[in-house]
Amino acid sequence: MKVTLDQDKCVASGQCVVAAADVFDQDDDGIAVLLDPAPPSDRADDVEQAAAVCPALAITVQD
Ligand code: SF4
Repeated sequence: MKVTLDQDKCVASGQCVVAAADVFDQDDDGIAVLLDPAPPSDRADDVEQAAAVCPALAITVQD
């Protein structure tokens, strides 16, 4: 799984961190930070959930 995050789109809602805290974090301004661009397969459901709930469509997941 390959994850990309477009920080220019991020609106700092924090939903990705709620869904997958080991893959996403937020900086001091609330902008998401990608901690792991290639998470293990057992994180797939949570990462896909993070992408689904992101209001800015800033997260892309590829198999
Ligand atoms: S869910 Fe989307 S908009 Fe919200 S912090 Fe994460 S990347 Fe940014």
